[in-house]
Amino acid sequence: MSTTQTTQIEIIKAATTKINDVDFGNLSFGSVFTDHLFECDFKNGEWQQPVIKPYAPFLLDPSTRVFHYGQAIFEGMKAYKNEADEIWLFRPDENFNRFNKSAVRMAMPEVPEELFMSGLRQLLQLDEAWIKKGKGNAMYIRPFMIANGTGVIANPSDDYKFMIILSPVTSYYAGDVKVLIAEHYSRAANGGIGAAKAAGNYGAQFYPTTLANKQGFQQVIWTDDATHTKLEEAGTMNVFFRINNTLLTAPVSERILDGVTRKTLIELAKSEGINVEVRSVLVDELVAAAKDGTLQEIFGAGTAAVVSPISGFSYKDEYFELPKLESTVANQLKEKLTNIQNKLEEDTFGWTVKI
Ligand code: PMP
Repeated sequence: MSTTQTTQIEIIKAATTKINDVDFGNLSFGSVFTDHLFECDFKNGEWQQPVIKPYAPFLLDPSTRVFHYGQAIFEGMKAYKNEADEIWLFRPDENFNRFNKSAVRMAMPEVPEELFMSGLRQLLQLDEAWIKKGKGNAMYIRPFMIANGTGVIANPSDDYKFMIILSPVTSYYAGDVKVLIAEHYSRAANGGIGAAKAAGNYGAQFYPTTLANKQGFQQVIWTDDATHTKLEEAGTMNVFFRINNTLLTAPVSERILDGVTRKTLIELAKSEGINVEVRSVLVDELVAAAKDGTLQEIFGAGTAAVVSPISGFSYKDEYFELPKLESTVANQLKEKLTNIQNKLEEDTFGWTVKI
């Protein structure tokens, strides 16, 4: 991890801060941004001078490729501040590697590790007052890259813009989450872009999710596109099932995002003595477990919500309510993980990285 090297970044500071206008006790996820952003353009086959500058809108030509062909990728990660005012990242190498995996799949240039990490570190340091201490508080980090070459020609762009923006967040409670198991729509297919954090994956989910919302479900559990018999992801999260005291989750594949929270929870659960199986979970198996009473929990796992318990699911017009348990593995793992992330508990795994 090259978080200690320094790239020369031009820094243009904002004349004033917006921080006093922000109600940190009442943040709506991903809607407030800090004073600065990091930006680096890719032109003539090279990364140009990186800059940190005031957060502001910018102009793009109407023919900019990203608008027409959707060449856009992003990441989602968090930074935390401990009681000693130190800033910590959680497994940032995982997000960096996934970003470049997404870049390759979308025919975009890879971002050098030094550029990514230095930009991130210096931006967080400059806007550190926006990172609040305490459990549940975090800085959501959104690195992204767009094709900003012009011309309505369906070819990869020559020019790209890489940016990092920061959004302070508090712990996120999704409320009662009922899910609909997908019988027709898919978020990903073999040979497609499901394993990339490509913007289009998310846009394509909106319509089927809106249909599910209209039927009273907050999210869709995506199934494999070929047979719709295997349970793959929940909304924009990886998904776990607890059946008969075993925690089950699908193996990552071309269709499933290699989630940082997912792989972390697998390790944490094992270290807590929980039986974990990484294997395909069939819809029929879930329905049978719900019917015979062995289905205990379903939860989504991702950076934003950490762990998001699911209260019931619907399949082929039949609704199954999950048991309301006093103590859940979802809560146990969430507690453990957020304690490690917020540095309230020793990180024996070496996942946290100080900036
Ligand atoms: N699946 C999808 C489709 C996602 O967008 C995300 C969020 N990045 C996840 C799973 C969870 O990944 P992570 O734990 O790395 O946030």
